[in-house]
Amino acid sequence: MDRERPIIGQVNALETPRFAGPTTFARIPSITEVPDYDVAVVGIPFDTGVSYRPGARFGPAAIRAGSKLLRPYNPELRVRPFLDQQVVDAGDIAVSPFNIVAALDAVTAGITRLISADRRVLVLGGDHTIALPVLRALHAVHGPIALVHFDAHLDTWDTYFGEPYTHGTPFRRAFEEGLLAPGAFHVGIRNSLYDAQDLVDDQGFGFTIVTSVQVGHEGAAAVGARLREAVGDRPVYVSVDIDVLDPAHAPGTGTPEAGGLTSRELLEILRGLAGTRLVGADIVEVAPAYDHAELTAVAAAAVGYELLSAFTAR
Ligand code: MN
Ligand code: MN
Repeated sequence: MDRERPIIGQVNALETPRFAGPTTFARIPSITEVPDYDVAVVGIPFDTGVSYRPGARFGPAAIRAGSKLLRPYNPELRVRPFLDQQVVDAGDIAVSPFNIVAALDAVTAGITRLISADRRVLVLGGDHTIALPVLRALHAVHGPIALVHFDAHLDTWDTYFGEPYTHGTPFRRAFEEGLLAPGAFHVGIRNSLYDAQDLVDDQGFGFTIVTSVQVGHEGAAAVGARLREAVGDRPVYVSVDIDVLDPAHAPGTGTPEAGGLTSRELLEILRGLAGTRLVGADIVEVAPAYDHAELTAVAAAAVGYELLSAFTAR
């Protein structure tokens, strides 16, 4: 964007109390309030692809509500994510709750309107199905994408009830459609699978798995460094299913799994991706009906803050 223009940051919390201000992410300006931007935050309130508890359609609103305490300076990365780049809230992409294929096409169209070679996007989901149409839009601009996927689950299954587009299948479809660069990662995988073959299939799609147990043994900083080295200088997409966190840290989600990452571990790993060529990211599967005391919404907002900081650090 035009560097001559002043960047518009957050509403000043010392003039307008946080609980009185706008409902945009972190109280940043709406896309209609600035002429251009570097990063658009956009909600996709869609959960027609879930296999268990519904409710992630209310995720974007919950994450925005949980983001009101985010402050301008990130001392860990020494960046100002809302002042060193122009970040805007682009509202929500309205999609059909009844027709998944139509909804996915609408997401691709909506993301395509927001991105360019140097305009990036942070998506607030929504269930994990939406990662596929976001990757379709990013691939059209950047070519094959290096995927770093945080999740308790592989999300590379084939079909559910014969349906190919669900929140358990986006990355198998992305692989089949040629959207992914070789060497994608899953981080935080744990617990039960349908069959040992699930892991064989997943490896066949080129994924490397870092389980939640391995994160505990290796340490978050080492995992972050490993990911940074693996993605190199390729365009990177970071997809964060909030169920990568232990239910103690993020109860408000649709398919909770015991034994997950702490929010501190996840945030530290994400800091390891600062300085890579991030072209997009998502935070999905926040379902506020199962949340308590905004634990999940606040964790998701903090994830968004680290991702936006990682965008800045490029
Ligand atoms: Mn999951
Ligand atoms: Mn998932």
